[in-house]
Amino acid sequence: ADWDTAVAAVRGLRPTDKVLLICHVNPDGDALGSMLAFGLGLRRLGVTNLQATFPGPPNVPEPFQALPGLDLLVPEAAAEPEPDLVLCFDAASSSRLGGLVDRLAKASTSVVLDHHASNPGFGSVNIVDPDAAATAVVADELLRRLDVPLDAEIAECLYVALATDTGSFRFAMTTPSVHELAARLLETGISPGDISRRVFDTRPFGAVRLYGDVLCRARLEPAAAGGRGLVWTYATLDDLDRHRQQPYVLEPLIDSVRCAAEADVSLVVKQVGAAEWAVSMRSKGGVDVSRVAVALGGGGHKLAAGFTGRGTVDEVVDAIRAQLG
Ligand code: 5GP
Ligand code: MN
Ligand code: MN
Repeated sequence: ADWDTAVAAVRGLRPTDKVLLICHVNPDGDALGSMLAFGLGLRRLGVTNLQATFPGPPNVPEPFQALPGLDLLVPEAAAEPEPDLVLCFDAASSSRLGGLVDRLAKASTSVVLDHHASNPGFGSVNIVDPDAAATAVVADELLRRLDVPLDAEIAECLYVALATDTGSFRFAMTTPSVHELAARLLETGISPGDISRRVFDTRPFGAVRLYGDVLCRARLEPAAAGGRGLVWTYATLDDLDRHRQQPYVLEPLIDSVRCAAEADVSLVVKQVGAAEWAVSMRSKGGVDVSRVAVALGGGGHKLAAGFTGRGTVDEVVDAIRAQLG
């Protein structure tokens, strides 16, 4: 990885240089948390010409509205059109950046920080560690190499990122070093109970009823995925409308669906347009779902991946069944 080049790019900034931080569309805890932590770190280093943004509507999902550093955020349209340095967080490919690929291309230096094995390295400097549990692990390492002292604000951002991408320290990549990082973060005095309640355990009542509808229509197909079993469900835009909910509330559903012991592979197919569906896929180990996602135009990790499918929900699931064999 290009650690030294990335350090030099930050150290070499002149006072007038414009720095833009970006992350993937529909940002999750790791995208926002690692980006804002790094932004706060750059601010501590005296970088003033500094913005953070993500593609699409500028709304930050409710669970992340208490993150430190949100004042760094500007809407996509207001982001500096010709930045000198761009840092990109948690994006598996440039297709996850929407219209912001422009800014990446225009910058004299673009640093990609990520942890997706499928990342092709689309920056001029790439720090991609597929063994990292979250992009936050990569961001923390770069902050340390820049001698940025860890404070409670930076720690809270990194903690949210680490906790979301490890499923609250349950997933397979929860290594000793993940817990060591978590320990360093907690030593700054942040409150894991408050943070977890806000990020994971607080949703509008309408979301609870919506979960009921969506989970009720889950289907189990024991013969699918080469006999390993498939469990899946879907949520439509009408479901969201009926319960007056925003798309972000659908994120935790995959964790309920994947509980089904009879299936190795699980899916939640979420409608995002008239004939457009965002698919979340999970595997218990027997199937590499990133292979399926990449074949269908997306990406991700071996055990957690996704893509955007077109057509009807049945057509989208048929395409997945065909890939699963
Ligand atoms: P989730 O199901 O939580 O949205 O995503 C699981 C994993 O798949 C994440 O690591 C995410 O980066 C990746 N992923 C989800 N959707 C897409 C997509 O449309 N394109 C790509 N390249 N990766 C995706
Ligand atoms: Mn992400
Ligand atoms: Mn991530």
